[in-house]
Amino acid sequence: MTTITDTAATSTRLIASVPTQLFIGGTWRAAAGGATTDVVNPATEEVLASVADADVEDGVAAAEAARDAQAAWSATPARTRSEILYRAFTALMERQDELAMLMTLEMGKPLAEARGEVAYAAEFFRWFAEEAVRIDGGFSHRPDGTARTLVVRQPVGPCLLITPWNFPLAMGARKMGPAIAAGCTMVLKPAPQTPLSSLALARILQEAGLPDGVLNVVTTSRAAEVIEPILTGGIIRKLSFTGSTAVGKILLQQAAKQVVRTSLELGGNAPFIVLPDADLDVAVDAAVQAKMRNMGEACTAANRFYVHTAVSDEFAQRLAQRMSALQVGDGTQDGVQVGPMIDAASRDKVQRLVEDAVAKGATVVSGGNSVTGRGYFVEPTVLSGIAAGSELLNNEIFGPVAALQTFTDLDEVIATANDTEWGLVAYVITQDLDLALNVSERLEVGMVGVNTGLVSAPSAPFGGVKHSGLGREGGRLGIEEFLDVKYIAIPIRERGLA
Ligand code: ADP
Repeated sequence: MTTITDTAATSTRLIASVPTQLFIGGTWRAAAGGATTDVVNPATEEVLASVADADVEDGVAAAEAARDAQAAWSATPARTRSEILYRAFTALMERQDELAMLMTLEMGKPLAEARGEVAYAAEFFRWFAEEAVRIDGGFSHRPDGTARTLVVRQPVGPCLLITPWNFPLAMGARKMGPAIAAGCTMVLKPAPQTPLSSLALARILQEAGLPDGVLNVVTTSRAAEVIEPILTGGIIRKLSFTGSTAVGKILLQQAAKQVVRTSLELGGNAPFIVLPDADLDVAVDAAVQAKMRNMGEACTAANRFYVHTAVSDEFAQRLAQRMSALQVGDGTQDGVQVGPMIDAASRDKVQRLVEDAVAKGATVVSGGNSVTGRGYFVEPTVLSGIAAGSELLNNEIFGPVAALQTFTDLDEVIATANDTEWGLVAYVITQDLDLALNVSERLEVGMVGVNTGLVSAPSAPFGGVKHSGLGREGGRLGIEEFLDVKYIAIPIRERGLA
């Protein structure tokens, strides 16, 4: 068994080994103004480390370093880029345990989930190591025979990558992998709550042989102030953002100033539809996975459960049993399955959404109590009979709360599921393949999980429609987001030797 004292000693050593400075042009350095910002462990509320708190001038310096490195990096052979990515994959897997512990300390997720995320992040590097050498083009004849059409793909140029705190390693890897593969340079701005995983990853990429200036990391507590000049300054050619819809919309407007290509992975409001023929073992497993992965702090989290009345009582009871058996606590400790929320504001928001739903008539099937003491914990909760107008139907809960409603009519449930501005993912549970495909095709989302609560995979195109975003990450499409198409016209005349 791991004890608290063992963990404390390990974490102190681990934190001391992680860089805490800005990474610009291949050099680790303090913020120009010397400022730092604290990183807090959400399970204990203790300060783990202080990292450099970048200013506008640091951000601009990072963009300039990316610009200066772009030409040489584009000209670097694809095989070299691929090998760097492959070395990063290997290094992440070799350091899986220490990176998992680091992530748990700064973000809170249980160690088992953090280990899973390290492997998931590593897999993006392996996938894009394989994609780097498969960037192809085209050659065709103009129909009238007068010319040939040559199509080539080239790196879009310096990229700005902005990541959230909920998957500190994987969200960065999902952007850096394809950017490196495509031959783009980057400025990465991680979330202020979880900079340590990104800084550790930057060092791994440096050690894997990534040339100076290809990746630049700017940590800051003043995102709005520091990012706007980077994005609108004319150097950046591509923005890839994962975060809230509200911030995504601001960035989309800013990107318009220099017509910057934009990929946005924004919020979700996932419906989880249990059809009357569902295998309830499958349904409950998928529900726990879709709801409780990352404590519910995922844009793919099931936000609205719609369960057919034929199975709704049994489903609610079995889900409540599973949810109330989960062990809540500090994710670094053995056996813990549910860690804390990222901060006090997130915890308070989840509790407020529960109170609002109950005040409007929902029944608490299990959980629902506030947790006192250190750390930002929320008890896993199942609510049924959610009334229309409850705030959690139109807000990402982003916490361990399952909100159940019932239905009888298929057309109605599809219309209700689609009645939201978001469209990231939906889950459908049924044993009937025709029905599964039919419902999947009618849902206004970018991804559907059929009889599963997990859709994320490095080999698949992740992304949403409507207010959930633009573009896709991962899969064959992931690298396309970082490539521009150039067409070269080659007229051809019939001729022999002079
Ligand atoms: P969350 O609410 O989950 O923290 P945000 O959308 O606020 O989601 O944050 C996602 C990322 O966007 C973080 O790295 C954050 O620092 C950054 N961010 C927040 N506001 C802005 C902004 N105005 N401009 C650029 N980046 C921002």
